[in-house]
Amino acid sequence: MLDIQKIRADFPILSQKVNGKPLVYFDNGATSQKPQVVIDAIAKYYQEINANIHRGVHTLSQLATDAYEASRMKIQKHINAKYAHEVIFTSGTTHGINAVANGFASLIKEGDEILVSALEHHSNIVPWQMLCERTGATLKVIPMNEAGELIMAEYDKLLSSKTKIVTVNHISNALGTINPIKYMIDKAHEAGAAVLIDGAQATPHLKPDVQQLDCDFYVFSGHKICGPTGVGILYGKEDWLRKLPPYQGGGEMIATVTFEKTTYADLPHKFEAGTPNIADGIVLGTAIDYLNSVGFDAIAKYEHELLQYATEQLSAIEGLKIFGTAKEKTSVISFNIEGIHPYDIGTIIDKLGIAVRTGHHCAQPIMDFYQIPGTIRASFAFYNTKEEIDAMVAAVKKAQMMLS
Ligand code: PMP
Repeated sequence: MLDIQKIRADFPILSQKVNGKPLVYFDNGATSQKPQVVIDAIAKYYQEINANIHRGVHTLSQLATDAYEASRMKIQKHINAKYAHEVIFTSGTTHGINAVANGFASLIKEGDEILVSALEHHSNIVPWQMLCERTGATLKVIPMNEAGELIMAEYDKLLSSKTKIVTVNHISNALGTINPIKYMIDKAHEAGAAVLIDGAQATPHLKPDVQQLDCDFYVFSGHKICGPTGVGILYGKEDWLRKLPPYQGGGEMIATVTFEKTTYADLPHKFEAGTPNIADGIVLGTAIDYLNSVGFDAIAKYEHELLQYATEQLSAIEGLKIFGTAKEKTSVISFNIEGIHPYDIGTIIDKLGIAVRTGHHCAQPIMDFYQIPGTIRASFAFYNTKEEIDAMVAAVKKAQMMLS
């Protein structure tokens, strides 16, 4: 059992008032809040060991390098990667997907196919469209049903020897659907295709095991898992990372440079050109330690209770419709109220201290599927409470009264 009051005390921002009301932060799908240990670790880095890494012989440079590489190993252990050099620091999920999509440009030709799903965030659609424009490959879409689940029978039909990569999120940011990625990975491999999993919305709720999943790439962002912004991870199987050309050229990623020819550094440095985000890379390790100290089993159990409670409470509101009713779902509720624009509800409940997201959630194709302009999305974290859900429900009812 989680001691929620103790956990909440770890997050200074949660005790704030917003618009004169206690903050109810339900925009965790966009970014998570940060515990004091993470905030302190950022200051400590700059106060005590700030130096550039990997190239200095002096003590501070070595301390910073050791801390950065220790964080990489912590992340390797967390996601159960076989080797630390399969863990590449990026600036976030978007960067990781773009790095892989750019690398694939050298492996893809006209007539090849790339499979994305109907549930993707724009950052897992646009880089692949750009790749198709460059190469003449075709983008195919795995369709979804009314509940917001991907249709596996259609997926099976879309896979063929033309499929070069399947790229799908582990959990949908707009609806909370947990996709059957193990099945999808195995099927893609049978067809000879690689698989990238966008773990941006999964990593706050569960601990991915990349070896058990057998995915070829797994990407996520630090800021959604209680870590700093501007840092993320691209996991890639060693063979794939050796096969793909680097995304960016520069310092750190080379072995030798002459004007005639450059040879690249070994993994992971081949994909880490330039001075990295050292402080935030180190502190991502602190965030992961913090989450593991809370415990992912306890987080999943508690968030599921929040999801069930909120679903019951919101469903009781007349005219309210929930989008995304998948059997396998995480703590995200997307909803609308008949006859009222989601933005109007969001604006009114913000005045009551409730932070939710309104709009298309960077997933316009999902909104097109439901033929709506957007939704109100409440996304819960392990530091939220049932009392906060009550406050949101009361605020939504008030907004509904004011706007009807
Ligand atoms: N994919 C999904 C499923 C997401 O939810 C997000 C963030 N909303 C991203 C990708 C992009 O992450 P970032 O902006 O941190 O690069």
